Amino acid sequence: MNEHPAQPIGRRAGEPGGSSRPHLRPALLAPYRDLSKLRYDYPLILSSDIEEDTFVRSLSDVVDGVLQQIAPPGIAGERLRQHVLLLEARIRAMASRGARGSLGELWDLAARELIRGSDKDSRTLLEDSLGRARSALRVDGPVVDCVDDSPSEILKHAWGTLHAQRVRATLVEIAELETKLSEILELDFLNSDEGRSPERLQRSVAGCCEDAFDFEAWSRILSESSRRSRLPESRRRRIREALSVLGSQRFFAAEVTTVDRPPPHAFAFESCELAIAAFRERLAEMVDLIKAITIAKLEIDNHYRESKHDDFFRRFDESSLEPDDVLRFPSYLICLRAKDCTAQERAAIFELLSSDLPIKVLVQSDDILSESMHSRGPASLGTGAEHMASMAVALGNTYVLQAASSSLYPLSDRIREGLDCPGPALFSIFCGSGETLPQLPPYLRAAVATQSRAFPTFRYDPTAGESWALRLDLDENPQPEHDWPLMHFEYQDEALQRIADEVAFTFVDFAAADQRYADHVETIGRSDWNADMIPVWRYLELDEQEARGKVPYILTVDADDGLHRGVVDRVLIRAAHRCIERWRSLQQLGGIGDSPASQPSEGERAAEDSEVELLREEPAPQLDESGGESPAEQQQTLPASEAEGAQNPDEPYIETPRCTTCDECTQINPRMFAYNENRQAYIADPDAGSYRELVEAAETCQVSIIHPGKPRNPREPGLPELIGRAEPFR
Ligand code: SF4
Repeated sequence: MNEHPAQPIGRRAGEPGGSSRPHLRPALLAPYRDLSKLRYDYPLILSSDIEEDTFVRSLSDVVDGVLQQIAPPGIAGERLRQHVLLLEARIRAMASRGARGSLGELWDLAARELIRGSDKDSRTLLEDSLGRARSALRVDGPVVDCVDDSPSEILKHAWGTLHAQRVRATLVEIAELETKLSEILELDFLNSDEGRSPERLQRSVAGCCEDAFDFEAWSRILSESSRRSRLPESRRRRIREALSVLGSQRFFAAEVTTVDRPPPHAFAFESCELAIAAFRERLAEMVDLIKAITIAKLEIDNHYRESKHDDFFRRFDESSLEPDDVLRFPSYLICLRAKDCTAQERAAIFELLSSDLPIKVLVQSDDILSESMHSRGPASLGTGAEHMASMAVALGNTYVLQAASSSLYPLSDRIREGLDCPGPALFSIFCGSGETLPQLPPYLRAAVATQSRAFPTFRYDPTAGESWALRLDLDENPQPEHDWPLMHFEYQDEALQRIADEVAFTFVDFAAADQRYADHVETIGRSDWNADMIPVWRYLELDEQEARGKVPYILTVDADDGLHRGVVDRVLIRAAHRCIERWRSLQQLGGIGDSPASQPSEGERAAEDSEVELLREEPAPQLDESGGESPAEQQQTLPASEAEGAQNPDEPYIETPRCTTCDECTQINPRMFAYNENRQAYIADPDAGSYRELVEAAETCQVSIIHPGKPRNPREPGLPELIGRAEPFR
């Protein structure tokens, strides 16, 4: 799509009237004002058990696991589920207020608070539920909420877990070498005059039938029989030297050190310069250790030949290290903030990444917008933080993971993959700045960057295959086949009718949430709405000719959830064009659709073009005094709303975020029950089946989250009985 610089759209920043307006938020974010009431990935638990394959767990997953153990399916387990979910919500709220500690500590604290706040009648049952849940809790470790430091905390923990596993495995290998070398020396000593002296022989049987032996005679016989079986002095010296290096090496060592054992080397750094300096300083030690291990193996197998190996090891130095030798050593972790990276530091990052060394670099970005908005250069894979990731991809040897901090839990396998791969890896993580997006919690700041394509998620693995499509993975993005992800959007119009629509979440929605760019969006009162106004994502599809006379807008809400249109100026439109061009480049490289990117199908287009769907009359969110409208529920990458309190108990609904994807309801009637993109069930069409099917699904659902509401067809047979069966699920 072309830009339309001549098009008089919106109002430019700095024109009168812009700064006095209260800041509005994109309407698609309206349901997420209070994240503590929702179930989503955070807080995370950094598992303390280094044996586990999973280094991180989400609180919700842990709670689901506990409930699976203690709560029987159906209504019988409902009391336990309700109580334990209350506990989960309490822990989540504590974490969001900054509480720190292990899961066990926060769990106990939350349980005490809940019990203290309960009334006398419910206390016994609550104590019983929480006591049983606590007994079933098997996971522990620090609790981490989505905050500015969480990317480095999670990366450090993941890297530390792998580091500890590798150190332990290598320590076992080194200990075996030490044991076998010591045995060679011990045997040799036993063949020496000293080893066979009467005193030594007496000490060897000390306390055991000493009087039965003539140690002088025994010593004489042994010495005469094996005088020629001693090791050459040069071999003994070589083995002792290897043992000395193995015993004093600092690359693989337990954290607890003894007086005669130096502390282990540190491998986590806050700057490339320090990491490079440490690596260089340790090169001689690395050479010594590789030499010692190689000599030890040769000696143990009795394959060391002085005529051949002496000269080889005499000349063995840094230049003799093979890439595989270097990869035996622990990886280096460098955690950086993009805003602190000087040009020198950035150059050092690429020097390290291009070196094939096991260097793992985390670059955490707090602000991706300022550069995107003002860049006028040709569209590449990206700018700023994105540019760093795309440059690392261009190196061809580096594992690259770009993601927002909100996605780190679903990407935990990718994080492990990058940390575990033999070569360099770059983790470019966006977590959003509270200075620029103060009205959004950190999790939401990060999630909207992904949702809007401002900071797409991708993984580049140079070892994943020959083609770009195999190496570049975009699957973790919402609806990766589309330009912009489409979100279901409901609101109430002036006539109190509920309206449902599909709305794309775009780069403009992300930028509009940033208070620095509020002036680029002009709020238009309903009386000024006109037929030339079109949603911005539609506008971006038009060519210059088609766009002439059109006015692009996004939907926004005020503090009372009143719905408005925000007309977008050309600066945001231009930035959105650049954003989508970068996204299409990624799609093309990742093998998604054709180039340009695949567009919605005819069917999807027709559905979108139907614009709105008038739903049945039912109680709906309130109109605000200014005539704005209130939006309803949302979808996928953004956390799903529980919104139980907002549900009409007369209407059928599912507590979708609690769905465990057991297939029971979808097997009863796949047109009535369907899965959303998170593979969690919702009621796709309540009129696609009978009330009996709704009630039976509610009874079958193991987590009791299907609420059948009231019968929709008063003539359906057997209603009195069905209404009675539905009562426990209201
Ligand atoms: S809503 Fe359906 S799929 Fe989800 S847990 Fe209940 S029965 Fe299973």
